[in-house]
Amino acid sequence: MTYPLPESVRALQARVRHFVDESLIPHETEAEMNGGLLPEKVRAAHRRRVEELGLRAMNMPKELGGGGLTYLKQAIVSEQLGRVTNALGWCVTTPARCLLDVATPHQLETWIRPTIAGRRHECYAVTEAGAGSDVDAIATTARRDGEHYVIDGEKWHATGSNEADHFVLQAKIAGGPNDGAHALFFVDKGTPGIDLVRTPAYSHNYASHHPIYAFRDVRVPAANRIGAEGQGMEFTYDWFRYERMMIAARCCGAAERLIDEARGFALERRAFGERIADFQAIQFMLADSLTELWAARLMTYRLAAAHDEGEDVKILHAQCSMAKLYASEMANRVADRAVQIFGGRGYMRENVAERFYRELRVDRIWEGTSEIQRVIIAGQLYKRGAAALVG
Ligand SMILES: Cc1cc2nc3c(=O)[nH]c(=O)nc-3n(C[C@H](O)[C@H](O)[C@H](O)COP(=O)(O)OP(=O)(O)OC[C@H]3O[C@@H](n4cnc5c(N)ncnc54)[C@H](O)[C@@H]3O)c2cc1C
Repeated sequence: MTYPLPESVRALQARVRHFVDESLIPHETEAEMNGGLLPEKVRAAHRRRVEELGLRAMNMPKELGGGGLTYLKQAIVSEQLGRVTNALGWCVTTPARCLLDVATPHQLETWIRPTIAGRRHECYAVTEAGAGSDVDAIATTARRDGEHYVIDGEKWHATGSNEADHFVLQAKIAGGPNDGAHALFFVDKGTPGIDLVRTPAYSHNYASHHPIYAFRDVRVPAANRIGAEGQGMEFTYDWFRYERMMIAARCCGAAERLIDEARGFALERRAFGERIADFQAIQFMLADSLTELWAARLMTYRLAAAHDEGEDVKILHAQCSMAKLYASEMANRVADRAVQIFGGRGYMRENVAERFYRELRVDRIWEGTSEIQRVIIAGQLYKRGAAALVG
């Protein structure tokens, strides 16, 4: 045992692992060859299985219809889902939990409960052409007009917005006492003034696309504002922390799968009359990969447990950055080595290493690039000292 996981967590890990191995992995190549799409019958079967496993909206409270899992359990689930390519693991949803603290009864009934139930789908629209790492540079505005806000701007990369029913959109307030403050809004996709600009192709083949949407004079009721004017960044930071931790977990799962697959191949494949597993060059790549995976996994599990223990959020913020930074860079190194071990086969799209090699690249970019994680970590180190963060 590499980490003292409670029995209930191990049991969940085994159930999700079985689901991934039996129901998701067999569909990877089909999804890859079809732009990420699987037949609706298969997707429905995946959703049913997710329900049976109690993983629907696994991060949301049970009383609202979610899975009510601890952070440690969520990390364990995400790690297993990370073992599959083409985002087939995204059949397990994790709506933005931070919104619950401020949601009005109307918002709960209109957007949050239906999203938990899987009847509606959300996407998160923060990034713009001129603002990614520097979120404060967003140019999208929300101008109060009586009982409405009028939203103007353009959003990039919003993951899953092709399948979503509504945006959780970040804008800057224009005019009034909070001019320039950030705020979040629920914006239904059918609202007049929202136009699909284009759907760029990305390195991966996922059913969830990342289109560009324009918002021109989009009127939304003031009741759609989430929390207060000025609270937008607070929720986005909360979302970043959660996503960074789950990215770390998924990267651990991806690395484990890659190591297993590369090990299996190395033990079978022969060159110059010998198993390639017996060449030191191959051994070193596998040994480095396994060692780095263990380090990343220990960080991630510990981080998730620290969330459950209610550790200071400022410490968690830095630790989420460390886990995301290390696990995503680790998984990219592992994928690169796995491609190398597979040789020419590692360059074929039907090979798991080739797919992960492309897919894992974005984990060093989204939810804050590796450079931004380092900026956060260094800033926290200067402010609090090493012992507060890793002591
Ligand atoms: C597939 C995909 C899905 C995404 N999904 C979503 C989504 O659902 N919702 C959403 O809102 N956004 C989403 N994003 C956007 C993503 O979060 C941003 O792309 C990311 O934060 C980087 O921003 P940027 O692309 O504008 O790069 P920039 O911020 O322009 O950065 C360019 C380069 O400069 C570096 N850099 C910037 N600032 C610094 C600094 N201070 N110090 C050192 N280096 C720096 C960066 O690290 C990077 O190397 C997605 C992106 C992708 C690719």
